[in-house]
Amino acid sequence: MAQLKCPICGGQVSVEDDALPGELVEHECGAQLEVFKKNETLSLRLAEEVGEDWGE
Ligand SMILES: [Zn+2]
Repeated sequence: MAQLKCPICGGQVSVEDDALPGELVEHECGAQLEVFKKNETLSLRLAEEVGEDWGE
């Protein structure tokens, strides 16, 4: 597990080491976070409010 920082509350977020960019993680503070890669390092950002997945 990788320990990332929640961009909303600053708390610790546990993410699988093999998490893929685009993967969604819900933090204990209630924020929906999206995994993305920055300089080969996994990071987190606030996921867009999509609600339903309209993709195929
Ligand atoms: Zn949080």
